[in-house]
Amino acid sequence: MQRVIVIRFGELFLKGKNRDYFESMLVRNIKGALSGVEHRFERSQGRYFVEDFAEEDCTEILTRLQRVFGIHSLSVADKVAVRAEEDFPEIRASLAKAAAAAAEGAEGKIPFRVTVKRADKRIPMTSAEIAAALGGTVLATGRFRVDLTEYDCDFKVDIRENGCALVYTDVLPGAGGLPVGCSGRGMLMLSGGIDSPVAAYMMAKRGMKIFAVHFASPPYTSEKAREKVVELRNIVSAHTGRIKLFVVPFTDIQLAIHKHCPANFMITIMRRFMMRIACRLADRCECGAVITGESLGQVASQTVESMTCTGDTATLPIFRPLIGMDKDEIVAVAKKIGTFETSIQPYEDCCTVFLPKSPVIHPSLAAVRKAEAALDVDALVEQALAAVEEC
Ligand code: ATP
Ligand code: MG
Repeated sequence: MQRVIVIRFGELFLKGKNRDYFESMLVRNIKGALSGVEHRFERSQGRYFVEDFAEEDCTEILTRLQRVFGIHSLSVADKVAVRAEEDFPEIRASLAKAAAAAAEGAEGKIPFRVTVKRADKRIPMTSAEIAAALGGTVLATGRFRVDLTEYDCDFKVDIRENGCALVYTDVLPGAGGLPVGCSGRGMLMLSGGIDSPVAAYMMAKRGMKIFAVHFASPPYTSEKAREKVVELRNIVSAHTGRIKLFVVPFTDIQLAIHKHCPANFMITIMRRFMMRIACRLADRCECGAVITGESLGQVASQTVESMTCTGDTATLPIFRPLIGMDKDEIVAVAKKIGTFETSIQPYEDCCTVFLPKSPVIHPSLAAVRKAEAALDVDALVEQALAAVEEC
């Protein structure tokens, strides 16, 4: 009897001709997620298996696999020989063990059923007949009663074509989505807030490989604020795979805007610079889109008009996966992916420096362009790009 983890993939089946490509991405990501943990990875009959791992690593492996996009569900199973001619001795032994585990601490007789899937058609019994026969092993414990519709325990037996069967009770949900890497690359604008890490998670879930850019304004923003962003990147990476982070010094641009442009356009013009620089870095990394954590109406700078002014400077499509979400919905995802506690640490963001008293909420594009004409935009962008750091 061998313990294995069964990996089932979801939407991949829908992808017809691309399936091989999608699968190769998924396999690469699974291998990446499991690096450093001893195991063997197997592919057989449309499923993946993790085998030969130490029992004490099982929970860690499951935790890591549950974060890999493209995985639909997971089970920890016993892999045993079928041996139908001898009345399934190994399957029965595994069922007896699973039944004992399920009955531990439970009161009264537990309603159960056995579900058999039989890929190996050489066995002369039907799946229902095998299930009925195997049910006897569970009943023999004296702790269960059969109930095919309202059961608390479903003992599953998958009889495979290779003379092996998988015996398991639980099906754990996977992260769903598509394997990271199969939907191109995106440049995330990563602040230290709650929203942008969630935006990264959501685009990675649709298969996008994530790069990130953060704008920092030393000495107005501290080293701690930057460390917080690096930390957020690290937490999100557990879900998205490795994220290369660019940190752009933004102080000179802010000072120039502050000095030469009307104060109430500060935020809008700042965002236009951020977008220009994000697009340039996106080109460098062969990203096809820029991703932000904006949500319509959340703050003054997230109106349609503000986004129009920012979008005016973009040379790539802007993906805003949170655009229609409420803050509490975003917070729920942030908590689920583990970024929330870090995001709420109170460090200053470059956007909070030089904050005008009354920013324009519905800026007109013509007015913003005119206000910005006082600046040497290209030179400021080049200067910032020349000083980018990679973390
Ligand atoms: P977040 O919680 O992501 O910080 P927010 O609610 O604070 O968002 P804004 O400050 O208006 O909203 O920022 C909107 C978006 O602009 C962010 O989600 C992020 O994508 C981008 N952004 C803001 N500040 C920065 C920054 N310093 N560096 C990189 N991107 C930024
Ligand atoms: Mg912010």
